[in-house]
Amino acid sequence: MAIVIDKPRCPQNHPCPSIRVCPVGALLQNGFDAPVVDHEKCITCGKCVSFCPMGAIKEA
Ligand code: SF4
Repeated sequence: MAIVIDKPRCPQNHPCPSIRVCPVGALLQNGFDAPVVDHEKCITCGKCVSFCPMGAIKEA
């Protein structure tokens, strides 16, 4: 299982709020772009998945 970003669901016009809930700093954002997951750091805890109000972060 891996965490993936569903880019079309992300409006890409705000600081990603899910970055704050990641316990290991695995979500990265460049400007207001859709965030990217650092799979080396991610422990697939799922916190960002349930936190993203747009449903743009998923387990795949
Ligand atoms: S699943 Fe957990 S560790 Fe991985 S990016 Fe989301 S909040 Fe961070």
